[in-house]
Amino acid sequence: MNFLEERIAADGVVKPGNVLKVDTFLNHQMDVELFDKIGEEFKRRFAGKEITKILTIEASGIGIACVAAMHFHVPVVFAKKSKSINIDGELYIAEVESFTHKEIRQVVVSKKLISRDDKILLIDDFLANGCALQGLISIVNQAQAEVAGIGIAIEKGFQVGGQVIRNLGYQLESLAIIDSMDDKTGEIVFRKQENDNG
Ligand code: 5GP
Repeated sequence: MNFLEERIAADGVVKPGNVLKVDTFLNHQMDVELFDKIGEEFKRRFAGKEITKILTIEASGIGIACVAAMHFHVPVVFAKKSKSINIDGELYIAEVESFTHKEIRQVVVSKKLISRDDKILLIDDFLANGCALQGLISIVNQAQAEVAGIGIAIEKGFQVGGQVIRNLGYQLESLAIIDSMDDKTGEIVFRKQENDNG
């Protein structure tokens, strides 16, 4: 197991409805030294790629994206969940269905923050059905910028998002991929990854 898989096995809690709770280290209380290792590993996996900006989504992607950005030396932009109307057209807008809240929300990014020369690394804490990532990809496309890669902390490999995003041709790097998890026994099975650095 790599460092993140070990932490998930030790402190993650499997809940009914295919939800993994990681709120003691990832998305409520945050272990920033773990985030630093996640950032270092993203840097290793995207070595050689030109990246000018990191884009994530409010709220739980922000912490990981910020610490990862220290390794890439680029700014972080987060898509804001918003009900505001785009009166003067200054926003890129995408619709995202929340996996955890089961509602459709608009996320917005100010047009001045992404330009067409940007090469963007998308970062998020979880990948489930891929709606959040599809929204971020749509925003990058609206800006006519490039998605240079996608870094995810935890992919739930038994949901469709990973396959959909990989089929679109993006370099998607998930540091832990869960093939199955059982809320009755608490058992979590991780997918073996070839490029794992431990
Ligand atoms: P997707 O859009 O890929 O279906 O879901 C991704 C988003 O839903 C992530 O930004 C994450 O915040 C949330 N999410 C999805 N699955 C889980 C889960 O099992 N546990 C937690 N804590 N959040 C999740």
